[in-house]
Amino acid sequence: MKKSSDIPIQFIKGVGPAKAKLLANLGIETVEDLLYLFPRRYDDRTRLTPIKNIKAGEWHTVAGKVLVGGGRKTWFTKKHVFETAVGDESGRIFCVWFNQPYLEKYLTIEQEVVLYGKVDVFKNRLQMVSPEYELIAPQDRSLSMGRIVPIYPLTKGISQRYLRRLIDACLNTHESHLLDLLPDEVRRSQKLEPLAKSIRQLHFPSTPAAQEKAMARIAFEEFFLFQISVILRRLSIVGKTGVPHRIEDPFIRDFVGGLPFTLTAAQQKALQEIILDMSKAQPMLRLIQGDVGSGKTVLAFFGCAAAWRNGHQAAILAPTEILAQQHYANLQKFLEQGAFAKWRVALLINSLSKKEKEAVYAGLKDGTIHAVIGTHALLQETVAFKDLSFVAIDEQHKFGVQQRALLSAKAQLPPDVLIMTATPIPRTLCLTLYGDLDISLLNERPPGRGKVATYHFPTEKSPSVYEQVRQWVKKGTQAYIVYPIIEESETLDLKAAKDMFTHFRQFEFADLRVALVHGQMERGQLEVVMRQFKNHELDILVATTILEVGIDVANANVMVIEHAERFGLSQLHQMRGRIGRGPKDAVCILISDPTTEEAKARLQAIIQTTDGFKIAEHDLKIRGPGHYFGRHQHGLNELRVANPVTQMAVLEQARKEAVALTHTDPQLKAPQHRLVKATIQKRYPQYLEMVWAG
Ligand code: ADP
Ligand code: MG
Repeated sequence: MKKSSDIPIQFIKGVGPAKAKLLANLGIETVEDLLYLFPRRYDDRTRLTPIKNIKAGEWHTVAGKVLVGGGRKTWFTKKHVFETAVGDESGRIFCVWFNQPYLEKYLTIEQEVVLYGKVDVFKNRLQMVSPEYELIAPQDRSLSMGRIVPIYPLTKGISQRYLRRLIDACLNTHESHLLDLLPDEVRRSQKLEPLAKSIRQLHFPSTPAAQEKAMARIAFEEFFLFQISVILRRLSIVGKTGVPHRIEDPFIRDFVGGLPFTLTAAQQKALQEIILDMSKAQPMLRLIQGDVGSGKTVLAFFGCAAAWRNGHQAAILAPTEILAQQHYANLQKFLEQGAFAKWRVALLINSLSKKEKEAVYAGLKDGTIHAVIGTHALLQETVAFKDLSFVAIDEQHKFGVQQRALLSAKAQLPPDVLIMTATPIPRTLCLTLYGDLDISLLNERPPGRGKVATYHFPTEKSPSVYEQVRQWVKKGTQAYIVYPIIEESETLDLKAAKDMFTHFRQFEFADLRVALVHGQMERGQLEVVMRQFKNHELDILVATTILEVGIDVANANVMVIEHAERFGLSQLHQMRGRIGRGPKDAVCILISDPTTEEAKARLQAIIQTTDGFKIAEHDLKIRGPGHYFGRHQHGLNELRVANPVTQMAVLEQARKEAVALTHTDPQLKAPQHRLVKATIQKRYPQYLEMVWAG
């Protein structure tokens, strides 16, 4: 089915091949793409501020005529400077642009313009430096003046007025052809306005409220498609037949009895859920959500052991070599027990020698290695299994759906998949974003751990903080000192890990054993230092955020984080999770001089609670979902206008409708669902190739 809005943009009046190329830079290839290019902001030009009323320090839009003009080169920087004054009936404002000599051609005297920028005071008069400008020709007035005006993202050679005119023209000629992909019954039950009306309101809103309503309408559509893809992805996996594992009580007793600790109630519950899932032929797809230190890893070990007991193989995918090694070392300890003596486990990381790697490849292929713990190295084509039946993915936010699929694809039958994440997802969002996963929650800290107290000090107090750290270390604890950057930079006035390391060695901690770790270190080197720290051959580790993921040193009970305002909340929480892992109490000191209210609120939040979920809710509110979930997550980046945090209610409605639709027509075969299917295939291809491959 060809939609008229699929027409290549090149064939639209006023476009042609040259402009089409430029528009492609904005991702616009068809009329539909153009109509879905939504403004990045709006300018309410129904009541523009008279120039005489604008104030320094504020952002303003003003309209007026160019009064004078002139460009010149400044003698000291050889920069081109273009200066002008723009006036309306009430007054005038001076403007200056640098290195844009072509402005002389456009900003000629008497030209009508709209300017948007921050107002400064310069030599006692109001001025805007490099404001956004728009030339207004008489024929532009209807779209660009006296109304709420859309401001689009631009690219070289494409102006606001051009886009506005083009979009207006396309709306006029193609609006009626815009096909609404939402099935009638959904539109009716949700009382949605016609699509064309919403699209027009998004470009040229009659009121802010109308714009918002239109936005919710478009967001609904996006969420709806997104939810269908999530649901279908789940169906595509759990609808298949995998490997049932026999997991009997004696085996469970052997495993649990061999642990150096007693499982928490939360771990036991999760274990039961895993046992139930793994026993079924239907593949498991389970997410273990638990704060740092809640003890997720042992559950992955259990799955691996159960696969082995059933004569199959298992794999654990970890995001860093340090973590893979740590898991491997822990599992090794476990193997020393009688019941597991014959279990063969291997490590696969890139820093192994070629020969070592080949031995692992061979063992996995012929089945003599029963479980492997590795990094991305596991995903390579050279890695093949004889009979993989269980896969665990650690710190899932570091991987994407595709990587999960890559590893699973190495199994003959769909394997049981366990995903672990320490990124707590606020309850309100969990179902909708992870609707394709079953969830186990580890909401309990293993007993016998110390408390972590968090304090905040201004930078001027750092000498006494260092002195306090000295005292603590002298008494036998170990400490981390964390910096936001590795090396000093010209543009940021921040203390850096390398420089502070050099400094500490000469001064404050000259008599202590101090080392440096950061992300640009060679792997082997990093590993040596980490091992030394773990063996208490080092007292203090000066570090960057490399500490964020999973390092486990029970004797490290002091952490200092400098420029704490530079880190996200969840990041601070993850780092703080590195301490207080042993029985002793721990102290986290944030050194920071927050200047904004937001930064202060963030520090307050991290000081007041150690509850990862509360912190996550804060973080999500402050930073929005894109940042929060990371680049890889679940198609969130394909959401163009919808925001799962601010539009939670819309998301819930969309999910409800998506569940209903996929329930009645999981293949999207009905004629009224054809457009939904086509759009999902276009928008979320990476997910759906898995679904409809068969
Ligand atoms: P995370 O959930 O952050 O991945 P880990 O699985 O690495 O946590 O566990 C953190 C530490 O706690 C490990 O040293 C682990 O051996 C230990 N641990 C796990 N479960 C328990 C428990 N029930 N009681 C005591 N210690 C535990
Ligand atoms: Mg972990």
